[in-house]
Amino acid sequence: MRTVTLGRTGLTVSKTAFGTVPIQRLPEADAIVLLRQAYDGGITFFDTADTYTTSEMRVGKAFEGMMHKITVATKVSPRTYQEASAHIENSLRALKTDCIDLLQLHNPPQCYADHDGTTPLDAALAYQKKGYVRHIGFTSHSLSVAEQAVQSGLYQTLQFPLNVLSGPADEALIQACEKAQMGVIAMKPFGGGIIKQASVTFTYFSQHPNVVPIYGMQRQSELRELLELEAAPPLMDAYMKKQTRQMIDAIGGQFCRGCGLCNKACPQGIQISSCNRMGDFLSRNTLATYLTAKWRDAMEKTRTCTDCGACVHACPYGLDVRSQMCDSYDIFMDLWNRLGDQSQNPVL
Ligand code: SF4
Ligand code: SF4
Repeated sequence: MRTVTLGRTGLTVSKTAFGTVPIQRLPEADAIVLLRQAYDGGITFFDTADTYTTSEMRVGKAFEGMMHKITVATKVSPRTYQEASAHIENSLRALKTDCIDLLQLHNPPQCYADHDGTTPLDAALAYQKKGYVRHIGFTSHSLSVAEQAVQSGLYQTLQFPLNVLSGPADEALIQACEKAQMGVIAMKPFGGGIIKQASVTFTYFSQHPNVVPIYGMQRQSELRELLELEAAPPLMDAYMKKQTRQMIDAIGGQFCRGCGLCNKACPQGIQISSCNRMGDFLSRNTLATYLTAKWRDAMEKTRTCTDCGACVHACPYGLDVRSQMCDSYDIFMDLWNRLGDQSQNPVL
């Protein structure tokens, strides 16, 4: 297993890392087996979050007593000092650890450069001062907010959507992180489910030796494929270049980073960013999280679209937002009509 040192944190982690969103969908025993198999295969970096229902707890159970052998990154989502503090306490308990290796602010609307003692960054710093947090990182779906976080010098790592479909601005962000000695963690290495060829995405990350992709896994076959690729990393030869080019041509215009700029532009108040990624959400989270009356209403609201085009204009990546919305509506409604409200069924 290749390793990467995450910038100035000095944390050396496996190049192939485990994203723990999808393990929420598994029975607990299966989730723990998968996590341990990943460790046995050489994976030592596990990314979770306070908002991923059972995920932190399962990581804690899988690695109880051996946390010193792995690196765990979690995220803190609230926007206030008090709530963030409560979530950090919960994370410490769930992970069964007395120190979180990497605590990342979870997609905040700003980087808190002028933090005044009331922000989640202040909470993270307070826990770091007390010895409960080793390093503080930042996650963002927004290029401009991510750039501000890098420039602020406040964070040791950045987690951002990156994959073979990334463009020049994303590449520049990676370079800015490297210059600032920040670790770079890639969310959405499979583009939120639209990249189907693991070898292509794997080869892309081999071209970026300092970037650690977080691969969401819920099946042993997925783990096996990644470990096989890691054992013999494919080269960016002429064949792979052609495969990569074909993939970018075919799906390059479909990769939603979840930045939310389209939401702000919509006069109808449609939650476009989340609704458009509903297929991915449903496949990686418990159905109890998204197959609910609240999300049914949000999906129904997409039918109020007046076709004004403001969202398309607002999208920095030129995505065909409206057609994605129609596809997502169909996916959600197909499941809703078959299964109905699953909010009371946390096992799914
Ligand atoms: S096209 Fe539809 S979804 Fe997009 S901004 Fe206009 S009303 Fe909102
Ligand atoms: S569709 Fe575009 S603007 Fe909307 S969340 Fe995705 S990347 Fe951002």
